Amino acid sequence: MSAGLKGRILITGGAGFLGSHLADRFVNGGYDVIVMDNFLTGSPDNIAHLIGKPNFKFIHHDVTEFVYVEGNLDYILHFASPASPIDYLKMPIQTLKVGSLGTHKLLGLAKAKKARILIASTSEVYGDPEIHPQKEEYWGNVNPIGPRGVYDEAKRFMEAMTMAYHRFHGVETRIVRIFNTYGPRMRLDDGRALPAFVGQALRGEDITVFGDGSQTRSFCYVDDLVEGIYRLLHSDHTDPVNIGNPDEISILDFAREIIRITGTESKIIFKDLPMDDPKVRQPDITKARSLLGWEPKVDRKDGLQITIDYFKGKVHAVHQA
Ligand code: NAD
Ligand code: UDP
Repeated sequence: MSAGLKGRILITGGAGFLGSHLADRFVNGGYDVIVMDNFLTGSPDNIAHLIGKPNFKFIHHDVTEFVYVEGNLDYILHFASPASPIDYLKMPIQTLKVGSLGTHKLLGLAKAKKARILIASTSEVYGDPEIHPQKEEYWGNVNPIGPRGVYDEAKRFMEAMTMAYHRFHGVETRIVRIFNTYGPRMRLDDGRALPAFVGQALRGEDITVFGDGSQTRSFCYVDDLVEGIYRLLHSDHTDPVNIGNPDEISILDFAREIIRITGTESKIIFKDLPMDDPKVRQPDITKARSLLGWEPKVDRKDGLQITIDYFKGKVHAVHQA
């Protein structure tokens, strides 16, 4: 372990939404933190407040290329990857490469440094699920050649590669399956339902619900997710663990909720449902509860209010530009 600190940790994708919140948590918790990112979908704005801190360092690097880090490493969090459906449809090859080649590089680094590695998997490994809610034992229903396949299969490969490094090389690995998470530092234009709806509501534009809006999602506030990941990293549990908020809502009701909270005059309009869009999604968090003593604490109403206040500043800035 690094002298005087709780450990040295590399966070890939640390200039993105989730990675930057994790960086905050570990910097504030007294770890020596290195963020590695190539700004493909992230932004320097997300980590600007950390620059100059003695226990923070940034390395600009594409993790699909050989990853070099000087000195020892105790932990690696591999979070680099486009994550919103719009992003990974625009960047299918980068998405496949970061999930496969990038994961291989980071597992190799973990092995060389004898570091514990946690990889960011996703509820998308369950595809359009036939089991509801989704528990970790479910193997999923994924269309490998559909448009979402580039993300889903990259993440499934990532899990397979991680288990292989664990079984064959004895690397200490952790796998978190993250369900839809939201909060400040999401990009207003990343196409995900929450930033899309909030941006439209704040600009007084029509709210675009895809399909009839009966498909469901379960939204987790970012602080809850970070706490779950922190606990998983420090646990001894190698099999995948779902982290998410089981509070399920239809997308149509979610749009109505955002209209109500923002007080907008916006109307809901319906657009085509994208191909292979999962019809339901809700985490079974029995494992996280029993193994990590974790469960979400932030109500959607409170999390949405914080996130909407954050987006107000962004919409205002765009209008003034
Ligand atoms: P994000 O797009 O905000 O962050 C991803 C970060 O990875 C960005 O900063 C981007 O620049 C960086 N990146 C991408 N390719 C890279 C490469 N080749 N080399 C270096 N950096 C690279 O997305 P996010 O929502 O913060 O998601 C982070 C991780 O969590 C992703 O792996 C994603 O699959 C996973 N995840 C997120 C959610 C969610 O609801 N946000 C759900 C499930 C899984
Ligand atoms: N969605 C929508 N309108 C939008 C963006 C998304 O109705 O402007 C729907 C999308 O089809 C999906 C759900 O909202 O059913 C959640 O989409 P998101 O992109 O947030 O992530 P996903 O959970 O599909 O990965």
